[in-house]
Amino acid sequence: MEQTFAIIKPDAVSSGHTGAILQRIEEAGFRVAAMRMVRMTKAEAEGFYAVHRARPFFDSLTTFMSSGPAVVLALEAADAIARWRTLMGATDPGQAGEGTLRRRFGSSIERNATHGSDAPETAAFELGYFFRGLERVGEPVPAP
Ligand code: GDP
Repeated sequence: MEQTFAIIKPDAVSSGHTGAILQRIEEAGFRVAAMRMVRMTKAEAEGFYAVHRARPFFDSLTTFMSSGPAVVLALEAADAIARWRTLMGATDPGQAGEGTLRRRFGSSIERNATHGSDAPETAAFELGYFFRGLERVGEPVPAP
């Protein structure tokens, strides 16, 4: 089993799509190992997206990500990192495939509804940025 880090971004939360996206997550077979609603400060968003510091859209992206509440998640499944990126679709909702979350819920390349880690190292950094180990709960222990 692998864990990935996901965000339901402020655009999707403010437009009332949190529940629909969570339903798609569960229907796709991910186990939600941790979940919290956060309102990132601009500095917290800048820390999260530090690898994109030099990109021209960095200021706009971090302003957007700190513009309202978002839902942060640890998602668990076999091959969770790749499978979650497939379910999200391409970064630009206009390029994302039919049936993907970004195609359905995104409205621009920036306001694209969801985030997902792109590799095991980024998943480890991103999960650790938002969750303490204790918050990523394990499966219930079956009764003897
Ligand atoms: P991701 O891995 O698919 O999320 O894409 P990236 O790591 O390349 O970009 C991170 C986030 O920055 C994306 O999810 C978008 O919200 C935003 N972003 C990416 N490219 C652009 C762009 O060209 N313009 C703007 N304004 N935002 C962008």
